[in-house]
Amino acid sequence: MNATNVFNFIKENIGILDVVQQYTNVKKAGLYWKGNCPFHHEKTPSFTVSPHKGIFYCFGCSMGGDVVYFIEKAENRTPFEAVQYLAERHNITIPDSLLKSSPHQSETTESKKQYWKACTVFAQWCHLKLKKSKEALHYVQTRNISNEIIDHFQLGYFPSSPKQLTSLLTFAKQQSILAHDLIEAHIMFKGRATLYSPFEERIIFPITDHLGRFCGFGGRTFLPTDTRAKYYNSKETPLFAKGSLLYGFSQAKKAIHQQETSFLVEGYTDCLAMVQHGYENTVATLGTACTGTHLQQLSRYCQTLSILYDGDQAGHNAVMRLAELCWHMNLDPEILSLPKGSDPASYLDTHKSLDALVKEKQDIFSFFVQSLGHDFNKKPLAHKVQVTKKLLTVIRGIDEPIKQNILLEKTAKMLDIPFMSLLKSLQSTSSTPEKLQSIQQPAKQELKRPEASDLKTISRLEKKIFSVIINNMELIAYDEVVGLIDYFSHSLQNILKKVHALSKQGAVTFNTLYNELDEEQRKIISQILLEFNDGKSKEEFDYLLKLFQKHLWKCQVSDIKLQINQAQKNNNIQEVSKLLDKFQLLKKKLVTHQKGN
Ligand SMILES: [Zn+2]
Repeated sequence: MNATNVFNFIKENIGILDVVQQYTNVKKAGLYWKGNCPFHHEKTPSFTVSPHKGIFYCFGCSMGGDVVYFIEKAENRTPFEAVQYLAERHNITIPDSLLKSSPHQSETTESKKQYWKACTVFAQWCHLKLKKSKEALHYVQTRNISNEIIDHFQLGYFPSSPKQLTSLLTFAKQQSILAHDLIEAHIMFKGRATLYSPFEERIIFPITDHLGRFCGFGGRTFLPTDTRAKYYNSKETPLFAKGSLLYGFSQAKKAIHQQETSFLVEGYTDCLAMVQHGYENTVATLGTACTGTHLQQLSRYCQTLSILYDGDQAGHNAVMRLAELCWHMNLDPEILSLPKGSDPASYLDTHKSLDALVKEKQDIFSFFVQSLGHDFNKKPLAHKVQVTKKLLTVIRGIDEPIKQNILLEKTAKMLDIPFMSLLKSLQSTSSTPEKLQSIQQPAKQELKRPEASDLKTISRLEKKIFSVIINNMELIAYDEVVGLIDYFSHSLQNILKKVHALSKQGAVTFNTLYNELDEEQRKIISQILLEFNDGKSKEEFDYLLKLFQKHLWKCQVSDIKLQINQAQKNNNIQEVSKLLDKFQLLKKKLVTHQKGN
């Protein structure tokens, strides 16, 4: 084993096929494997894997790279997090020497690890206790929460008594978590004589971060005699930031990605009820308003956000604010209006499904227009102006001009204002307020799937030759190959130059080359290798090279013809004769070449 860093170590120990199979069904097709792409929706498979080279490429969405890159994208992790994730999932221990030499190690310091571990241990203990407590379990069941959901979300209960405290500390100690760690994680607090916790005698909702690590808790009172605040949440810390955490996100991620849409609700129990009724793509905010960070996370996985709107609770302004944030994150908001007085959990208890609400769902604009009511015309002028401005802000946030026009027409009719004057005021203000632009740009960039540069314009012959060289990198030593490198398209030329440079230091392997490439080049190489992944003999290769050479000469010949024409027009006799000489030489080459075949 000659792994020089953690990335190579992972690639040498984990087969890309094993990893990919967990996300999509791929089948052998010739030298490579094919299946439906896990990154975009498709009916005919265009997602291709080469287990031999350890790379994948999707001909539908141009996503391509190695196994680490696959996990980066599939699980939304940094490269180093992807490495750790792969190591954990495949039970592989990364040698300390490699970890220490990794510049990314500082990402997860010991104290952070200890925090997550303390939270995990506490979640486990509470979960066990819930199952043993008739009273707590009864309460959860009266809320119609199924046993499966209790397990899926690891719901728990923290019984309070000196005996139970000892039980918790013993349980924790068995997993190397001490009282000190529980205090550091803000689960236990030091009292005068003993430890105590605000989570005691509460139903515990463990909260995980986007990587599925337990990082905090919500505790709800349930005893009729309990007069404390209904909810107690973990203390706000960098590892438990309510403004960026979404309850149920790590469990919902896959479903959100597959369905390209996510439901957003307000509380733990609403989230549980949604998932229990089959809406696995549901997340909840942690008792705070939805932030741009929340939406940015979601926008990496879906395009639509279904907001369950409860007429009694959330004001229109809250929904409008959310909608505005959505546009800047490239998320399409949809409003599902619940009947007055019901929340998602109670609605599902009675109706068992959201079908009726989904049928009646509204885009944010229709929602807004409807919510203004029928008696709009009776309202004072100042109110009308304000509403018009608000609507224009909404319309401005929409990218498609056609949609903008339709909505402007709607507004004109509704407010009884001429269409043209609305259009004018829409155009008179800049399309995006400056303040928002900074948020909008990065989100947009992230969503855009990068094309593999000028790949489409590169000829098949050129790509074929390129793939043969990459599959047999010793070919780069041949003079006739070196001589042709300069004639390849830029993106391929740069890669071949790297192969050539590396070959001077010894035999080049695919992995050493891959490590030298940037993300764009990795995509290119993945695509070409998966498109032309057929072994070629040296004879076939020579033939391809000759074809390429001939093609080059032909191009040069027609080029010279043009130049001769130009020189003749300019009466530049000297230039004409020079070009004619060149032309003859090339012609000769072409003729000999044709005889040679
Ligand atoms: Zn794809």
